[in-house]
Amino acid sequence: MRFAVHYRQAQVVAARDLSPSVRSIEIMPDGGAAHWSPGSHINLLLPIGDTGEVRSYSLVGEPGGAYRICVKRDDLGRGGSRYMHSLKEGARVTVSDPHNLFELDFQRPHYLMVAGGIGITPISSMAKTLARRGADVTMLYAARTADELLFSDELREAMGERVRFFVSQDGARIDPDAAVSALPPGGELYICGPMGLVDAFRRAWRAAGRPQHLFRTETFGSGGAYAPEPFLVRAPHLGIEVVVPADRSMLDVLEEAGVEVMFDCKRGECGLCAVDVVSAEGAIDHRDVFLSEHEKQSNARMCACVSRVAGGAVTIDTGFTPDAPRLT
Ligand SMILES: Cc1cc2nc3c(=O)[nH]c(=O)nc-3n(C[C@H](O)[C@H](O)[C@H](O)COP(=O)(O)OP(=O)(O)OC[C@H]3O[C@@H](n4cnc5c(N)ncnc54)[C@H](O)[C@@H]3O)c2cc1C
Repeated sequence: MRFAVHYRQAQVVAARDLSPSVRSIEIMPDGGAAHWSPGSHINLLLPIGDTGEVRSYSLVGEPGGAYRICVKRDDLGRGGSRYMHSLKEGARVTVSDPHNLFELDFQRPHYLMVAGGIGITPISSMAKTLARRGADVTMLYAARTADELLFSDELREAMGERVRFFVSQDGARIDPDAAVSALPPGGELYICGPMGLVDAFRRAWRAAGRPQHLFRTETFGSGGAYAPEPFLVRAPHLGIEVVVPADRSMLDVLEEAGVEVMFDCKRGECGLCAVDVVSAEGAIDHRDVFLSEHEKQSNARMCACVSRVAGGAVTIDTGFTPDAPRLT
């Protein structure tokens, strides 16, 4: 069960490599591009897997003209980014209109923008928009190597001294505690990057006693603490036992088995698909950002869309019974 998304046919109008692992792709929908605001992403319906799969990409640059996205190649993934890297000018694709789940609030007195790796895609256009409006904004951007730093010239031009770059290969690391304490009270933090970086900022934010609603993040999905492997899911209240293969999610396998589970974001943010864990054999690899650290440690619930079990099985209760009124 998911909210409807409208897709359109579109054409790749430009494609080029920006770095050894990132490809910039410009896409023009038939009938023209829709308006979008910084922080927005588009979904692409890709011909991968048995029935096709959706992958999301944040929009970069300025609204108007073709949609521009930057895709990092992930060779451990299920093929979405590899497919995107194969696209050349003239290719036909199926895209959604832009959605914004990471919208800027222009009313804050101060902003701290933090990007790690490919998490730069939403943050760059958000930070440049704030700088152009004269907002009090600081930006910190970390990448593994210098050639993986994207948009550095345009960010310097738009933000001057207010953007700082950290290349971990050169030993430069962001200090989350120092960054949070340098943000004046009332300031809002927007962060997009690897889970380790987001978690470190979340801890620093909490330790500084900052209000939760001023901590804003968007995740692109997490590789988790363990490599994906098959695991068994038992739902005794439904008389079901299914194996989740390494390349599929528990949510998809449960849905295929006819188990109704509510979901929306499919990336561990909204928590709608969290199921009760009755018992687990092996470690639960919580890959969501919805459950608190305490909830993750207690292993009482797990988000079926992204979380997995390493080395075993899990017994769950979805709260759904076949006799219950069906949700439509
Ligand atoms: C709102 C949003 C915006 C995004 N913006 C961008 C962007 O601007 N640029 C960009 O490059 N990407 C972006 N992404 C990520 C993008 O949608 C894809 O997830 C990414 O391209 C990888 O796709 P894939 O099919 O290659 O890998 P996936 O199959 O999605 O795998 C990604 C990672 O998940 C792990 N994994 C693999 N199989 C499983 C499994 N069965 N269960 C759980 N984990 C598994 C692997 O460790 C792998 O490294 C965004 C995602 C979201 C939600």
